[in-house]
Amino acid sequence: MTMIGDKLQQVQARIVTACTAVGRDPASVRLLSVSKTFPPEALREAHAAGQHAFGENYVQEGLAKIEALADLRATLEWHCIGPLQSNKTRAVAEQFDWVHSIDRLKIAERLSAQRPAGLPPLQVCLQVNVDGGANKSGVPAEEALALARAVAALPRLQLRGLMAIPEPAPDFATQRDLFLRATAVFDQIRAAGMPLDVLSLGMSADLEAAIAAGSTMVRVGSAIFGGRS
Ligand SMILES: *Cc1c(COP(=O)(O)O)cnc(C)c1O
Repeated sequence: MTMIGDKLQQVQARIVTACTAVGRDPASVRLLSVSKTFPPEALREAHAAGQHAFGENYVQEGLAKIEALADLRATLEWHCIGPLQSNKTRAVAEQFDWVHSIDRLKIAERLSAQRPAGLPPLQVCLQVNVDGGANKSGVPAEEALALARAVAALPRLQLRGLMAIPEPAPDFATQRDLFLRATAVFDQIRAAGMPLDVLSLGMSADLEAAIAAGSTMVRVGSAIFGGRS
């Protein structure tokens, strides 16, 4: 077992334990490995250990890895999870499979217009700001339903769910309550008739609280690949 393979197993075990603690089926939570700052060889190692979904924050860095791992492309799923500027949407629409960080309509419209016809619709999540911090990324919770309706209407995107990154909190209950704000928005949008099925919540430090709040996809970097400098 390689070191990364070992870490992957440890994270999968954490997911199982966290699900069991709250009576959830472990199969209801997917692991997205966040590979930002790590070289393609590290992703190859994770892939050899059975991990196929990778999250990248920086578009240029992600594109370089997509190219470096082109031989594995058919078995990889690339998720763009970082803030997205207008001038980067074309490359993302052409190369990635998922975007988690949609927080305004203009970006979604560009991605839809630029998604190549030969590819399946781009799978997207809206990033919701659950802390209320004015300069944080994410659509304010009160505006999420309206943005969801507009994004769901775009032809080349498939709206799958929500992503949130609450500020680190000192304890489990506080962290879970912040995640639950995202879950409440998720429930509101589903109640309005949109079939969302993905709640992208939780990272290395707080995946247990996220799973307690209903996360269906945890985005885990350092617990798999090690610390980032
Ligand atoms: C870096 C990052 C992660 C992973 O964080 P870790 O603490 O290393 O697990 C998850 N989501 C986003 C959006 C990130 O930028």
